[in-house]
Amino acid sequence: MSDCLFCKIRDGQIPAAIIFRDDDVLAFKDINPKAPFHQLVIPTRHLASLATADETDAALLGKLMLVGARLARESGLAEGGFRVVMNAGADAGQSVLHVHLHVLAGRVLAWPPG
Ligand code: 5GP
Ligand code: ZN
Repeated sequence: MSDCLFCKIRDGQIPAAIIFRDDDVLAFKDINPKAPFHQLVIPTRHLASLATADETDAALLGKLMLVGARLARESGLAEGGFRVVMNAGADAGQSVLHVHLHVLAGRVLAWPPG
């Protein structure tokens, strides 16, 4: 989508600290980290929200989780613990309408979230 921030990051039109990329997913550092480790994993294909995803997106959504876990593991943070979060919709705080999985770690994370 031409006016989508994360599609622009995918296409290199907006710079980001890219951590991992393959045909399906892209991972980069969050610009405003909420924890010492805060990366976003997105599908390379534009998908607006988990709220509108369907069965055809199942493998892709699963891959976001597995890539997120691997990134935490490779940074030595999986043993201590990490959190994956996907905000869907305005009330949940989704501010970018391109699916993204937050991967947070590096501090004790409070529960429940606000
Ligand atoms: P949401 O609130 O939609 O769940 O998460 C959007 C996330 O994208 C936020 O954590 C925000 O800091 C991050 N973000 C917003 N704009 C940019 C940007 O231009 N570059 C990067 N790397 N992250 C961004
Ligand atoms: Zn997009």
